[in-house]
Amino acid sequence: MDIDARIDQLLEGYDPATTPDREFLGRQFDLGLAWVHFPEGRGGLDASPKYQEAIDARITAAGGPRIGARNPIAGMAAPTLLTHGSPDQLDHYLRPMFTCEDIWCQLFSEPGAGSDVAALATRAQRDGDEWLVNGQKVWTTMAHRARWGLLVARTDPEAPKHKGMSYFVLDMQAPGVEVRPLRQMTGEAEFNEVYLTDVRIPDAERLGAEGEGWRVAMTTLMNERVSIGGSVAPRGSGPIGEAVRLWRARPADQQDPATKDRLMRRWVEAEVGRLTNLRAQQMRQVGNPGPEGSIAKLAFAELNKSVFELCLDLLGPAGMLYRSYEMIRPEEAGFGGDGDVAKAFLRVRANSIEGGTSEIMKNILGERVLGLPGDVRTDKDVPWSTVPRS
Ligand SMILES: Cc1cc2nc3c(=O)[nH]c(=O)nc-3n(C[C@H](O)[C@H](O)[C@H](O)COP(=O)(O)OP(=O)(O)OC[C@H]3O[C@@H](n4cnc5c(N)ncnc54)[C@H](O)[C@@H]3O)c2cc1C
Repeated sequence: MDIDARIDQLLEGYDPATTPDREFLGRQFDLGLAWVHFPEGRGGLDASPKYQEAIDARITAAGGPRIGARNPIAGMAAPTLLTHGSPDQLDHYLRPMFTCEDIWCQLFSEPGAGSDVAALATRAQRDGDEWLVNGQKVWTTMAHRARWGLLVARTDPEAPKHKGMSYFVLDMQAPGVEVRPLRQMTGEAEFNEVYLTDVRIPDAERLGAEGEGWRVAMTTLMNERVSIGGSVAPRGSGPIGEAVRLWRARPADQQDPATKDRLMRRWVEAEVGRLTNLRAQQMRQVGNPGPEGSIAKLAFAELNKSVFELCLDLLGPAGMLYRSYEMIRPEEAGFGGDGDVAKAFLRVRANSIEGGTSEIMKNILGERVLGLPGDVRTDKDVPWSTVPRS
């Protein structure tokens, strides 16, 4: 059965308007339409990833559910598991991840290790067939809803920092896992601190070899950049569509040429970004994305900020109003602000931090794409335990 016939079968048998989301997504997974480049039986059809955009567009147009905001870490957890996980792990984790029955979180950043995540200090010590984990993670999106976490921890402090880490799937309900909310300037606490005290992880939940955690983490991070900045939305949609809508809503005497010029500049930047993503997507055959993910991520972050600044200016004094700063722990993580322009303006400030800051993206592009001399790294080849930490 070809891909179009499978989409027909999905939409005819499971009306998105009346089918519970979980059931619809489960059927989508079983038909191989979840991640079309994944193997058959694992949510895919062994097809080229280029078909995914068209699949998602048809399902979205028909009113089908999308998992992006609900399970935002799935976009990088699934390819990480596929590349480094055991068949048992794939059987166990992929389907409930896609149906959003199990929410995932990413436990990389720490108070002393954000941009330089390889400096992390959370310790995992071997104890027979288990690992004993102690430490603290921070900025953990959706940890308050998560069933499973992608955890990187230090297993050999005497090895250089990139070589002494291992990667695990953490049960967020295990004894010793404590999740505390961290409030953002939107008022929401979409992310958290996570304290790990004598948490036990079976060795079977290690992804990749002992000491190879950095290599596994790179799979996650490469996919993170694409999943944050690399989607190809229809022309004129998303934030720039919002700016155009607000422009059109302005009285004619307020549609001045200077503001129109600003709008047109943002439109051109949005379109250049969209077409670059389209080209990168078409050139990417199978496998994991390369440095073009960093270009997309950088451009997306800077563009979103400038577009929502313009939106707020277009709103005039009304842009100063805000619905509520009441602290909530949301069920979805928002990169765009659920249609509320004032909230989006505040939320997109984080786009140039989350998933790697814009400065770090520029370092990656300078070093790996342009071949410029590398950042100064004095701690690279010495044992992690000898590196001074604050
Ligand atoms: C909304 C949001 C959600 C997040 N979700 C998660 C999550 O789910 N899981 C997770 O693990 N983390 C998450 N993060 C954390 C995020 O990955 C880190 O905040 C980010 O990597 C930066 O780390 P840091 O905050 O420690 O800043 P630092 O690394 O301390 O950086 C501070 C400043 O110094 C600059 N800088 C640092 N090093 C260099 C360098 N070598 N060259 C030039 N400039 C440099 C940075 O660009 C930045 O401006 C999230 C962050 C945000 C804002």
